[in-house]
Amino acid sequence: TATPLAELDASLLTTTYTTSPRSVPAQGSPEASSSSVCTDHMIQAKWTASHGWHAPSLQPYGPLSLMPTASCLHYATECFEGMKLYRGFDGKLRLFRPELNCNRMLLSTNRIALPAFAPQELLKLVVKLCATDGAKWLPRDRAGSFLYIRPTMIASDAALGVQRPKEALLFIILTVFPKMDDIPTGMRLLASKDDMVRAWPGGFGYAKVGANYGPSLVAQGEARGMGYNQILWLFGEDCTVTEAGASNFFVVWRTEEGKVQLVTAPLGDRIILDGVTRRSVLELARSRLTAGNEGLEAIEIVERKFTMLEVEEAVKQGRIMEAFAAGTAFFVAPVSHIHFRGKGLDIPMSEGVSGKYTKTIKEWLRGIMWGNEQHEWGYVV
Ligand code: PMP
Repeated sequence: TATPLAELDASLLTTTYTTSPRSVPAQGSPEASSSSVCTDHMIQAKWTASHGWHAPSLQPYGPLSLMPTASCLHYATECFEGMKLYRGFDGKLRLFRPELNCNRMLLSTNRIALPAFAPQELLKLVVKLCATDGAKWLPRDRAGSFLYIRPTMIASDAALGVQRPKEALLFIILTVFPKMDDIPTGMRLLASKDDMVRAWPGGFGYAKVGANYGPSLVAQGEARGMGYNQILWLFGEDCTVTEAGASNFFVVWRTEEGKVQLVTAPLGDRIILDGVTRRSVLELARSRLTAGNEGLEAIEIVERKFTMLEVEEAVKQGRIMEAFAAGTAFFVAPVSHIHFRGKGLDIPMSEGVSGKYTKTIKEWLRGIMWGNEQHEWGYVV
């Protein structure tokens, strides 16, 4: 009988601290608002088909060494996660629902034949890296700031061949990252055309694999060039609304019957990502807004397929109330404008830079992430 393969085991972590510490960008400096600076350390773990997971290591941040034949460079055997480490207003460092990201990473690795692992071991490694670099890179006098965490897995086989990888590398890095949710004019979206489709049934839109992102950059670059912030990804002949850039997309509208609804695309077709922010928006709205709250009218929460034609109708009839994009990078970003088939659709921003529901939901999430509200979603490091 064959010996079982070794599991990913965070307790085997070896540690080598840097001897040339990097400097933390000053607040307000160009580096502080770019994503060009990583912290002092990274974590790596190797996997081989013959052994399973090798002991992970915490080591100085630096280049990887890969053979030009590495599978990920040819066959897109790569997936990743995106999460943040927050310096709270109570001085604590927190992650936000990190177990959901670790579970989703496993879903992504499964889709592209990368090795499985226990998500709680990945979480322990993420926590370890955050605990190592967090205090220096998010000083206590920078409450309200964050670092971006990028767990990644690649197939690193040193031989060409279109086949299940025999070698893989897991790594985790922390990077300085700009705040992207405060667009003064609101986010302006350009609806995709049918020659640029992000994801399709039977594909991999539900997985956070690199193969979803590279091919979206032509459309995204065109949108930027035309003065829009992101693409609103549509699908199919009926122009189903799916996601906005690398975020989930929500509208608030009044139905023809007069009910206020918060609507977002469903997960059933597996063409959109099960966003941690999306889930959290839905859960908070279900628990705090369905009976009305703080002067807000009661709202119905709806996950259903909806089309751009419905959005257009709601705009024409004055029933559209708000729209926003929700994701880790963009947080909750109010949308003020959608360009669809040559027409510009304006979305109201009743509070100046946001709608009321958007503003309320964003405040609640911000409170949980930065520790103004003690909540089980906040994971103290
Ligand atoms: N959709 C896509 C395509 C994304 O890349 C992301 C970012 N991970 C999201 C939605 C939002 O997911 P989350 O809230 O987990 O960041």
